[in-house]
Amino acid sequence: MRRVVLVLIGACAIAAAAWGIHSLPGTVTAHIGPYDFSAASPVAALAVILLFVAVYLLIRLLGFVLFMPRRLRRWRSGRNRRYGDLAVTRALVALAAGETADARREAGRARRLLGDTAQTLLLAAEAGRLGGREDEAEAAFKQLTAQPDAAFLGLRGLLRQAMEREDWTRAYALAKEAESVHPAAAWLRKERAALAVKTENWVDALALADADAPKAALAAAAAGQATNVVQGLHLARRAWKEDRTLPAAAIAYAARLRADGRERRAQSVLRESWERAPHPDIAACFLAPLTDPASRLAAAKRLTKNNPQHLESRLVQARAALDAGQLEDARFHAEAVRATGLNQRRLWTLMADISDADGTDSEAARMAQRDAMRLAATAEPDPVWRCTACGTPQTAWHPICPACGKTATLRWSTAPVSVSTAMTARTAA
Ligand SMILES: [Zn+2]
Repeated sequence: MRRVVLVLIGACAIAAAAWGIHSLPGTVTAHIGPYDFSAASPVAALAVILLFVAVYLLIRLLGFVLFMPRRLRRWRSGRNRRYGDLAVTRALVALAAGETADARREAGRARRLLGDTAQTLLLAAEAGRLGGREDEAEAAFKQLTAQPDAAFLGLRGLLRQAMEREDWTRAYALAKEAESVHPAAAWLRKERAALAVKTENWVDALALADADAPKAALAAAAAGQATNVVQGLHLARRAWKEDRTLPAAAIAYAARLRADGRERRAQSVLRESWERAPHPDIAACFLAPLTDPASRLAAAKRLTKNNPQHLESRLVQARAALDAGQLEDARFHAEAVRATGLNQRRLWTLMADISDADGTDSEAARMAQRDAMRLAATAEPDPVWRCTACGTPQTAWHPICPACGKTATLRWSTAPVSVSTAMTARTAA
């Protein structure tokens, strides 16, 4: 209705204008050079109007021709955007449905239509991974890392790939880079901590450790790795303060103190740890600087001064006394150990060595040595470092179990860990 009214008003206006033009009186004369024009006023007015209309149409035509390429580009871009968005949606659906071929095809189409944007690159990478084309995915992730706003996505993708192929060194470097790009990613910190352990980068593993991490073991390992003297000493002290019963911590700290020329303090640390938890490695470290058997025996007595009757103290004293030619003392301590009921190879080997060093060529001495050798062959094995998670024995302490990769699971023990205990430990880890 409104349109009808407007059309009527427009028609009335045109009719009024036509009537007005038609009613114009007089004529219009123009002299242009040798030409003379003369026309009635309505005709002249109509000619002027037509001329204006023609000029207007001509300008519009020129504009249309001039702006044609730009219009074409806009049109093409709009069309690509529409079809590209459609391809993105289809690729997402195919990814969610696990349809490999469709996902790759639609992701490729989206890239062709929309270019290498963060979305299309991520889609192409994920579609490549879904289709088992790791090289294709890696190339797309690498392109993503070059985009400042989307670099984290690319690094995260490359990190996942490195972890899947168990390239821990590369994964660790990528995690570090990803955290520098996006420091707020909490999961990345955990990932970095785990990767630092896997790559045995103990200084970083300790720095990234959470409250439940075995800090003494990590710090002891880090102290052994540190090249800076001050940092090494600091880490070793930290390890020992965290757990004074861990031989590796006491030994690491003592070694750093010795390197710093503080032998008395080193001995004090080792003695304290020996008092809390005697271990043959501590005794070996304590006696290491000494070569003279008499000095070693005196040192063994100093080390075991506060717990001389402990089984390990007696074994250390017996071995040092034997080396120093104090056979009575050696035998006294060995017999005391035997009286406790210990039936380990190291005890019988020690007793055989004492009998051998006795030098008396009596039948009784030869019998005693033979008995000790026989008992050594059938005795229980000596204690070793053993993983509480997988039960594998190790000849030396490691911060992680070389067999199963668990952190701080090695314990000094003789009895093999039962399967149920190992399973419990594995579940808890
Ligand atoms: Zn293990």
